[in-house]
Amino acid sequence: MTLQLHDTLQGKKVPFEPLVEGQVTMYLCGPTVYNYSHVGNARPAVVFDLLVRLLRRRYKLTFARNITDVDDKINAASIETGKPIDEITARFITAYNEDMGALGVMPPDIEPRATQHIGEMIAMIEILIEKGFAYTAEDHVLFDVSSYKQYGELSKRDLREMIAGARVEVAPYKKAAHDFVLWKPSPAEFPGWDSPWGRGRPGWHIECSAMARKHLGETIDIHAGGQDLVFPHHENESAQSCCAHDGAPFARYWLHNGFLSIDQTKMSKSLGNVLLVHELVKTVPGEVIRLALLSAHYRQPLDWSAATLESARRMLDRLYGAVRGVVVSSKARAAADIPDALLAALEDDLNTPKALAELFGLAKALNKETDEATRQTLAAQIYACGDLIGVLGDDPETWFAGHAEGEMSAAEIEALIAKRKGARTARDFEAADAVRDQLAAAGISIEDADGGTSWRRSG
Ligand code: AMP
Ligand code: ZN
Repeated sequence: MTLQLHDTLQGKKVPFEPLVEGQVTMYLCGPTVYNYSHVGNARPAVVFDLLVRLLRRRYKLTFARNITDVDDKINAASIETGKPIDEITARFITAYNEDMGALGVMPPDIEPRATQHIGEMIAMIEILIEKGFAYTAEDHVLFDVSSYKQYGELSKRDLREMIAGARVEVAPYKKAAHDFVLWKPSPAEFPGWDSPWGRGRPGWHIECSAMARKHLGETIDIHAGGQDLVFPHHENESAQSCCAHDGAPFARYWLHNGFLSIDQTKMSKSLGNVLLVHELVKTVPGEVIRLALLSAHYRQPLDWSAATLESARRMLDRLYGAVRGVVVSSKARAAADIPDALLAALEDDLNTPKALAELFGLAKALNKETDEATRQTLAAQIYACGDLIGVLGDDPETWFAGHAEGEMSAAEIEALIAKRKGARTARDFEAADAVRDQLAAAGISIEDADGGTSWRRSG
């Protein structure tokens, strides 16, 4: 079996071969820390965590996921809330790690922060100026897109068409509309660092190029992120790094996850249709959210709804139900083989729907099996697969203590609360009250407060 990955640059699935045999370097663009992450932001963290787990089975992996802690959105959040920038970034770095941890995402080997790599960014910008790929203008440093022939290759854009179609107003200091900022001046009220071009702060793209170079080298094996990062972020990262490194490719494989949407609209902070992981994990087990995120293939769009969560909860019920009552030691669990078919599905560009189908096949076989020794072997295999996928971390009894059979699950309750909220927003109070009654009939009492609606089983 060889690992096959879909590379955005080649536009197809290709066999994966690392630059150095037996070793892999991987970089994932991490969060900009000015707010809690929504379920869409969690999708790359979770799907690429699965890739990390898979890679670690075969290779010595060095995995970096950065933190963008200098950004205009962070400055704006500081002005809006009146809180110091450091306080905002510290708070949301902690929240991000807690929230992703709740979804079973393992911490990266390296978590570089942009503000701790300003020296490396300045050094890289100096190289780009020296080699003729960047220019200074009015205290800015800009990347000269026309100096790099391959610009547009990753995102499959033709620069000439882009120029013809551009309607953006060009900043006076730019030679061309698509030249992008490597460094910009920073007024006293915003974070800034001394540089050869005056007090300023870096552009977003140079952060990742400089941090990847420092921690993983000039050419990395895998660069991953959400689909919206292909252009301009990854196109620009690639241009900067290739030019600074005399044409050496920046990443050998570019991986991008599809969007998560709600009602067919991309979930995004700017659209305001977000579901925060921080809130969701208070009532829905992290494993349910994780499995819901893995239930679709990572490159496909995933439309999120209460039904997505409910179906993931049912899947876990089936798996926990199968292993319930079978005694499996942690040693047997760690030593159990992952069935070839499940591994082959995951190694086929992370085909999680197929891998999950294989896992349910095992659960079905276990349910039918009567021989105790075989039951134990099957249960150990199910647990081992769960460990690889990042689920089945609970004891089955603990899992079922969360909700008895036939009892309304947290996901169902959350869905009804969301329905009630929708009805109230639409001022349909009759419908909202009907939902409250439905919950009360199921023994769930709810309480509205400023931060949202909480619920408990009245017993
Ligand atoms: P941001 O903090 O906005 O830079 O996003 C962090 C990561 O989440 C990036 O890899 C984005 O591409 C990804 N992302 C943002 N919104 C979505 C979405 N609705 N679905 C999937 N991925 C997303
Ligand atoms: Zn990046």
